[in-house]
Amino acid sequence: METSKKCITDFKLDNKRVIIRVDFNVPIKNKQIEDDNRIKESLETIKYAIDNNAKVILLSHLGRIKEESDLEKNNLNIVVPRLSELLSKPVKFMDATRGKEVEDTVDNMNPGDVILLQNTRYEDLDGNKESGNDPELGKYWASLGDIFINDAFGTSHRSHASNVGIASHLPNGIGFLIKKELEAMLPTIENPEEPFIIILGGAKVKDKIGVINNLVNKASNILIGGGMAYTFLKAKGYKVGNSLLDNDNMDYVNDLLENYGDKIILPIDTLTSITVDGNSDIYTKDIKDMNDTDIGVDIGPKTVELFKSYILNSKTVIWNGPMGIFEIDKFSKGTKDILTSLVGNRTVIIGGGDTSSAAINMGFAKDFTHISTGGGASLEMLAGNKLPGIEVIDEK
Ligand code: AMP
Repeated sequence: METSKKCITDFKLDNKRVIIRVDFNVPIKNKQIEDDNRIKESLETIKYAIDNNAKVILLSHLGRIKEESDLEKNNLNIVVPRLSELLSKPVKFMDATRGKEVEDTVDNMNPGDVILLQNTRYEDLDGNKESGNDPELGKYWASLGDIFINDAFGTSHRSHASNVGIASHLPNGIGFLIKKELEAMLPTIENPEEPFIIILGGAKVKDKIGVINNLVNKASNILIGGGMAYTFLKAKGYKVGNSLLDNDNMDYVNDLLENYGDKIILPIDTLTSITVDGNSDIYTKDIKDMNDTDIGVDIGPKTVELFKSYILNSKTVIWNGPMGIFEIDKFSKGTKDILTSLVGNRTVIIGGGDTSSAAINMGFAKDFTHISTGGGASLEMLAGNKLPGIEVIDEK
């Protein structure tokens, strides 16, 4: 299904100043980029613009800027060497988000040149101008270009100056990454081939309520693992010890179990420990045998088999949220086993930042229909909500 939104391919880019909003919000540890997936995901659009003789002006955010001390640790110049290497060409970094030097540099660009401005959220230090979509800022950034392309799926559920603001002042379209996200997810969400199941995990029930409400009637089953499962198990009367609980949403969980109890499949066994750091003894227990000090840290082998029986029978799977505390190796087996069982002849959409990075880092990058790059944005889409950064883009 082709999206009705204008795309970068609908424009003549030759000699035009093309502003591309990319998502270089990469994880950083010890002043190093920990994972360059986001840079790689942006390459197709940037290369297309370069190959079509555009003057390419890149904008991205990196982390949050709340106070002076956030500036240096979220300096976007960290991505320049890797970006330049991946593009096989120099990328000029401007250590500013606006001003005469930026304007002069843009004026002197040649077709095929690439410049990257400083982190758009540097503008948040002075009154949240970027995140609050300050009208003057969006207009200013738009004045630097002739065409605006939004390719930052990860922030498209937010209305910021660097997406909605700029798009309101320039001819605009989406890039290849957003196009891929829309075309992979929309038809599946709207019209999934049956049997259609949803797998949910992760920490909080609250974050998944929108997804459950939107899809519960379409899905034949919802398999629930991860930290959120213990709230459901407690609602069913089991002892879950010190496992993660979302007490604020207990009423919602009770209603759901009452109305859709036969669709909701919960863990029957779990890995337990008395701490979550991986340094204490680990046991595999049936849920009914959990005691007061146990913390459920991953689904157990019987649950993997149970979930597999639903997965192998399915034609469409949407998955959001890991099955355990997968960041710790000893608690990652449930997530990995479920990923392994998903590979096969079915549509599989994986959304949510943590689940997507687990899938990619565990070696499943090419095995599924779609692994969404946006955490919050993919959750909003799965919940059936409109994303402002995409809504603002012109129709073809
Ligand atoms: P979410 O953003 O809601 O998808 O949550 C992802 C987080 O859930 C990851 O950081 C996991 O470590 C965490 N998580 C998954 N299973 C558990 C669990 N059993 N107990 C605590 N946290 C969990």
